[in-house]
Amino acid sequence: MIEVHLGDITRLQVDVIVNAANQHLQGGGGVDGAIHRAAGPGLLEACRKIGGCPVGEVRATPAFSIPVKRIYHTVGPVWRGGNLGEPELLASCYRQCLALARRENVHSIAFPAISCGVYDYPPEQAVEIAVEQVQQHLDRDCEPQRIVFCCFDEAMAELYRQQLEAYVRR
Ligand code: ADP
Repeated sequence: MIEVHLGDITRLQVDVIVNAANQHLQGGGGVDGAIHRAAGPGLLEACRKIGGCPVGEVRATPAFSIPVKRIYHTVGPVWRGGNLGEPELLASCYRQCLALARRENVHSIAFPAISCGVYDYPPEQAVEIAVEQVQQHLDRDCEPQRIVFCCFDEAMAELYRQQLEAYVRR
């Protein structure tokens, strides 16, 4: 089941929330800042121990004060025009998160719109990749059985709804 949710990802009742982190895993603005504020200082400490994460990959931590089981920190690509591997790197973020969720027996996971904030990825193209990767995963696997696209604004939520409909119709 795929859901589109409008609101703050730190408030969702799911097993795992995904953070759109940066390579240093040292917190930042946007959804990263919101997750670090809600989780508390233990999260920064756990991220420091990990040391960093390359673009397109994922690292997992406990969730500290956020009432979910785990936080997956993935690093989306900065948009630099689209010819520097951005689509493949963004797809890799979703694939690696879903593969890790599978290995960790996660039943529900929520994604923010990775790279669509300060990393400047064109939202329509990012949403197309997000929906395609999640649908492809669910075509061959039934877990995580609940996948949430968590959007911070209605325009983004509408893009996901349209893209999900378009995917079903093709
Ligand atoms: P990136 O650096 O990967 O671009 P950002 O955090 O700047 O990440 O933005 C990613 C998306 O997350 C944007 O669409 C932004 O509106 C959204 N966002 C920001 N705060 C939250 C939050 N608390 N919950 C869910 N989404 C959020």
